[in-house]
Amino acid sequence: MMNLNELTIKEARVLLDEGKITSLEITEACLKQIETLDKDIHACLTVCADSARAEARVADKRLKAGERGMLLGIPYLCKDILMTKGIRTTAASKILENYIAPYDATVVMKLKGAGAVLLGKTNLDEFAHGASTENSAYGPTKNPYDLTRVAGGSSGGSAAAVASHMCLFALASDTGGSIRQPASFCGVVGIKPSYGKVSRFGLLSMTSSTDVVGPIAKTVFDAALVLNVIAGKDELDATTAPVEMTKIENKFANNTDAQPLSGVKVGLPTEYFLENLNPEVKDKIIAVANKLKLAGAEIKSVSLPYTKYGIPVYYIITPSEVSSNLARFDGIGWGLKKEEAVNLQEFYKKSRGAGFGPEAKRRIMLGTYTLSAGYYDAYYKKAQTVRTLIIEDFNKAFKKVDILLTPTSPHGAFKIGEQSNDPLAMYLEDIFVTGASLSGLPAISVPAGMIKVKDGNEMPLGAQLIAPRFQEDLMIQIAKLIV
Ligand code: GLN
Repeated sequence: MMNLNELTIKEARVLLDEGKITSLEITEACLKQIETLDKDIHACLTVCADSARAEARVADKRLKAGERGMLLGIPYLCKDILMTKGIRTTAASKILENYIAPYDATVVMKLKGAGAVLLGKTNLDEFAHGASTENSAYGPTKNPYDLTRVAGGSSGGSAAAVASHMCLFALASDTGGSIRQPASFCGVVGIKPSYGKVSRFGLLSMTSSTDVVGPIAKTVFDAALVLNVIAGKDELDATTAPVEMTKIENKFANNTDAQPLSGVKVGLPTEYFLENLNPEVKDKIIAVANKLKLAGAEIKSVSLPYTKYGIPVYYIITPSEVSSNLARFDGIGWGLKKEEAVNLQEFYKKSRGAGFGPEAKRRIMLGTYTLSAGYYDAYYKKAQTVRTLIIEDFNKAFKKVDILLTPTSPHGAFKIGEQSNDPLAMYLEDIFVTGASLSGLPAISVPAGMIKVKDGNEMPLGAQLIAPRFQEDLMIQIAKLIV
C-alpha cells in the first residue's frame, strides 16, 4: 500500500470508514513526512505534533462509535494567517513572532467540528504580501519540484505542503492570487471562493475588500469537499452571504456522459492571451479548452478590455487597505514591543520598525500616501472607479459565456532571489489573478501540465477558471473534467 500521507481525502475516507486505517496512522505518516522533508522545503512555521495526535485519537473514537463525516480524521495544515487558539499565529512576521490567538478563526472552528486534524501552520509572505513566499520573515518556502525555485505566494507553504504530501489538504487565503498562483507553481488544486462565501473571521486582514479563505488540495474533488465544509454564512463576518452550496453532482444532470458540458459556453478572454504570452503557456491552456470542447462545451473568444488596469488598481487598493489594517500592530494592543523607547511616538517607530519587514513597510507607506487628503481623489478614488469598470467587464462577459478559462500565471516557478529585488516584477506576477479578486468572483487553478522554465527543467503550470459570483458548483464541475 502507498504511504498514507499520499492518499487523497476521498481515498482516505473510504479506508477510514471501513476501519482499514486510523486517523492516528495517517497523522503519523504526515508528521513523518514533515520531519523528513521540511528541513529542505520549509513549508511549515509551526508543527503541533502532540495536539494533532490527540485530535486524531478523538477522531478515531468518533469513527469507532459509528460517526461519519467527509473530513473526520483527515489531517491538514493551515496558513499561518488564520487564528488558531492556543497555537502560535505569526502571519510570517516578526511583529507577531510569539502571538498566541485567544480564539479560532471560523474556518478552523468548522474544521474542528468536522473532525479534521490540525498538524500545524504554514509559511507565507509576511501578512500575505507577495507572490513567492520570499517575504516571510522566517525564510522562503522552496518548491518541491525544484528546491532552487519558489513555491509561489503568498500561500507558498500551503501549496508546497500539499504537493509534497505533508498533509491531505491545506487552508490558505487569496487576496490577489495567493491561493491560485502557488497552486499553479506547485502542481496542485486551489480554490479562491467568491467574496463572502467563506467567513473571514479570524483571518488577519490584508485587503478586507478582496480577502477570502479557501482550500488547496490534491484533486478538484478534495478541494470542493473542504470548501463545502468551510463555506456559509457566519454571524461573526457581516460580509458572508447566506448562499447555500448547491450539490456539486447535480448541475449537468440532463447531459449525457459523453457530452457532460453540452450547452456550456467557455470564454477565452483575448486580453489574457496577448502576443507576448509564452507560447508554451498558451498551448497548455488551448489544450485544456480542447478537452472541454470534447466534453461538449462551446469555446468562444470574449473581451475584458479593462484587464490592463487590474494590476495598477489592485496595487493602489491593496496598500490602502493594508496601511489601515496594519495600523493595529502598534506594540501596545498587538505585536512586538520595544520598551526602551522614551515617548509614544518613538515607541511606535521602534516597535513597528523592528517588527515589519520591507514589503509590509513599502505597502504601509504607499497606502498612507494614496489615502492622504491631497492624493485620495487622484489615486484611491480613481482606483475604485476603475475597479467598477473591471467588475462590469466580467458582468458583460458572463452574459455571453458561462465561465472563463485563462492561464493562472504567465510562467512556471522562478528561481529564489530572481525577482526579490524588483517589487514591480513581483507585482506583475499577479497579472491573471487580480481581476477575479477585485470583482469578488470565484476562481480555481487546476494543473494543466508541465512547461519549460528559464535555466531549468519543467515546472507545473495551472489553468484558471473564473465563474460568476457564487457559481462555485459550475466551476468545480467543469474543473473536474480538466484533471
Ligand atoms: N501577490 C499578491 C500581493 O502581493 C497576492 C496577495 C494575496 O493574494 N494575499 O498582493
